[in-house]
Amino acid sequence: MALQTPTHDTYDVVIVGGAIMGASAAWFLSDNADFDGRVLVVERDLTYEACSTSHTNSCMRQQFSTELNVRISQFAADFVKNIRTYMGGDDRVPNLSIHNFGYMYFADNAGFAETLRESVEVQNAAGAATRLLSPEQIKEAYPFYNVDDIVVGAINTVDEGYFDGAALFDWWHRQSRERGVEYIQNEVVAMTRNASGSRVESITLASGEVVSCGQVVNASGPRADRTAKMAGITVPVEPRKRFTWMFTAAHPLDRDLPLTIDPSGVHVREVGGGTYQAGGHGDVDPAVGFDDYDMDHSLWENHIWPALATRIPQFEAIKVTSEWGGHYAMNTFDHNAILGSHTEVENFVFLNGFSGHGLQQSPAMGRGTAEWLTYGAYRTLDLTPFNYARIPAGTPIIEKAVI
Ligand SMILES: Cc1cc2nc3c(=O)[nH]c(=O)nc-3n(C[C@H](O)[C@H](O)[C@H](O)COP(=O)(O)OP(=O)(O)OC[C@H]3O[C@@H](n4cnc5c(N)ncnc54)[C@H](O)[C@@H]3O)c2cc1C
Repeated sequence: MALQTPTHDTYDVVIVGGAIMGASAAWFLSDNADFDGRVLVVERDLTYEACSTSHTNSCMRQQFSTELNVRISQFAADFVKNIRTYMGGDDRVPNLSIHNFGYMYFADNAGFAETLRESVEVQNAAGAATRLLSPEQIKEAYPFYNVDDIVVGAINTVDEGYFDGAALFDWWHRQSRERGVEYIQNEVVAMTRNASGSRVESITLASGEVVSCGQVVNASGPRADRTAKMAGITVPVEPRKRFTWMFTAAHPLDRDLPLTIDPSGVHVREVGGGTYQAGGHGDVDPAVGFDDYDMDHSLWENHIWPALATRIPQFEAIKVTSEWGGHYAMNTFDHNAILGSHTEVENFVFLNGFSGHGLQQSPAMGRGTAEWLTYGAYRTLDLTPFNYARIPAGTPIIEKAVI
């Protein structure tokens, strides 16, 4: 598709990147009666072939160690289950549900068992249904696991599992476009600041047009730092490779397989019909090129499959049916979202650093960002702790449940 030209030369909000985060922010702006501005979403590839969103596993969990992350996922669950209502009762919008196989976190040592216990307390206090299971209880509920080395497990089968992120994405696009949000295929290649450096005045497109902006939102995923540098600033986000394998089992499990977080770092879950999905990454985890999606085939043979077959002996006989590599937009500061305005370039708004949990965070992050752009403050869930300001202040958020 050829590069496209915006219909105006000035917009109240320009969003750089139109995948799940850009689409969410644009939709929530279009849904906010107090916002009557003009929104342009610039997306370098409207097929979305190479972005994180296209490579996601699209699962959600309540099992985080910080209350705010639990609340963010709870809003995701509510939004997904009530998407038609949120979208004004539009009967073209499908009813979505969550395949609640749950996440099963395993601890194989006393230290991590204590971390799980503390996290479960936080989750329960926030209303999540997480339970701790002894090895015997795990074996009774899920006889296929080998629990010889397991000290404790944590599971929650309410609002934890797979959801149709592609449908959510599609409907945010469709409805926001119908409400006047403009999406173009083009690339933001430069930004110009005012004389004092306190604001981005305009962005420049690959096609040469210069567009004035009231506020600019960085929703460019693994390219977040590249985009920030256009405004003369930086953000600690880099592309890290994460692999996914789909496989069938010669002897399928007799019940749903929770999304199992193995102590080896490998994770695996139910897909349905005797098909499963596993994920993982190498021990060495460098930043990679934006266009590097090469598979590491030795990883499956040497690490992933042995770990799977050890944890679930029935997975000795399995056949890989497809595989892909994707990129986390890894926040190297503290693995959490980076939001709000830059501390000096006031109208540069971050929507970055979602590492491995951006799909499930997209409803709360888009809603919060739309509030920030409209009111200069959060009105529903207070997302202030995630604001960019914590980075220059050197105060990371400690989230212990990072996958
Ligand atoms: C293998 C894998 C599994 C995952 N599993 C889960 C999961 O189970 N649950 C979960 O919650 N999350 C998961 N995630 C994370 C989640 O997918 C991401 O956090 C989320 O998709 C990030 O969305 P985004 O819009 O921020 O970034 P992206 O999807 O990467 O989108 C950024 C967009 O910006 C565009 N762009 C960049 N620069 C420019 C520019 N200068 N001009 C114009 N456009 C630009 C890009 O083309 C791209 O479309 C997973 C990620 C991976 C890779």
